[in-house]
Amino acid sequence: MSTIVSISTAPGIGGIGIIRMSGEETFQIIEKIFKPIKPQKIEDIKGYTIKYGNIVENDEIVDEVLVSYFKSPKSYTTENMCEINSHGGNVIVKRILDICLKNGAVLAEPGEFTKRAFLNGRIDLSQAESVIDVINAKSEKEAKSGIKQLQGYLSKVISDIKQEIMDVLVNIEVTIDYPEYDLPDVQEKELKDMLESVHKKLVKLEKSFDNGKMIKEGIKTAIIGKPNAGKSSLLNAILNEDRAIVTDIEGTTRDTIEEFVTINGIPLKLVDTAGIRVAKDEVEKIGITKSIDQAKDADLIIAIFDSSRELSNEDLEILELIKNKNVIILLNKSDLKSILKENDERFTNITKRVLKISALNKEGIENLYKMISEMFHLNEINLDNEVLITNIRHKDSISKAIENVNKAEEALNMKMPVDITTIYIKEILEDLGEITGEVVTEDVINEIFSKFCLGK
Ligand code: GDP
Repeated sequence: MSTIVSISTAPGIGGIGIIRMSGEETFQIIEKIFKPIKPQKIEDIKGYTIKYGNIVENDEIVDEVLVSYFKSPKSYTTENMCEINSHGGNVIVKRILDICLKNGAVLAEPGEFTKRAFLNGRIDLSQAESVIDVINAKSEKEAKSGIKQLQGYLSKVISDIKQEIMDVLVNIEVTIDYPEYDLPDVQEKELKDMLESVHKKLVKLEKSFDNGKMIKEGIKTAIIGKPNAGKSSLLNAILNEDRAIVTDIEGTTRDTIEEFVTINGIPLKLVDTAGIRVAKDEVEKIGITKSIDQAKDADLIIAIFDSSRELSNEDLEILELIKNKNVIILLNKSDLKSILKENDERFTNITKRVLKISALNKEGIENLYKMISEMFHLNEINLDNEVLITNIRHKDSISKAIENVNKAEEALNMKMPVDITTIYIKEILEDLGEITGEVVTEDVINEIFSKFCLGK
């Protein structure tokens, strides 16, 4: 395989920059371009060593650097690798990259280092995918779940299930060779028990995707209310919260903005924040129906009313539209003399979740977070003892595996020849193999790694 090189640090001004190289010729290239202060033969340099010296081109010192040596197989990719720590910024790092390229390395594709780690068997596909999750994490929970997957927790659950299947499959192998004989009762029971147990485990994993998706994508939340109810004040109160980690993410259409906020570990994806921020007359133009339309596939609707005024027709319209939705009703402007009460049946008929707040004074916002956390059972997610599926590709494979478990169980119940049952059972193994990457096409692999950043 070629020797690849890439800048691994993010572009821009920073203290250090890292240029990473991996492949057979790494050490030859580094010998040509790097002059250590204390020269040493490459054979004498142990893996995990850092040497200090200069990158030199045509006898000119390009930069003062540290070079780390990793010797195959003990490296990220399992190949010989070097990492050059240079000064950061836009010029030096790029120049060192060019020098590596001139001396025989080729530019790495996005994710190619991790792809090599996978192709060389150091990590499986689910672990490789978790690398991107860790890098892209928007909340601590998401990062933690990614790190656990990287450590192989999901791989272990999958391989245990596969082993459970294999153990039984091996036992009936003899019977498969003579399908004209019936499956002995003992073995039939063994098969049934195994399928039942595997079914339970897979369904648990499949269900974990609800939480996994929420952690990864955030609770899709829409704030709605008529003009002047206090939507943008609430939005500001949320976004300016000290403990909030705010990440702007692109909305699905050009004129929507979505903001990802994590407060007290609660991941919220606020949709259509652009709609909230446009000038007042624009809001009126957009109209309430449009705003509820944008909120229609939200996981949570926060409907906000001005509690210092009697409900207007627009408010009543909103109440009508949020019936049967997952909704929290906020009675805003609690600092003013209130006309609307929490126990007003026009609210309580829709939801028990009615809260008084003052968006302006940031009062009652904590209660809102508490309510959301309880509503989505966020405190019950324990990442220490639970493996969460966060990746739709994995979820799809698990769903396929469950279908095949069902088919195998059906075949068994209908007393079909045992070789039919085993066909389905082998399909389950294949479905699970897609997650860990034993059974995937090159296209799938390329698609996965194309989403990586350069240098990883
Ligand atoms: P939006 O049109 O729904 O986005 O409403 P805004 O957030 O722009 O608020 C409309 C007006 O109500 C502004 O003058 C705010 O200062 C005021 N307002 C918002 N929340 C409160 C509150 O809790 N108490 C009081 N007294 N005024 C508020």
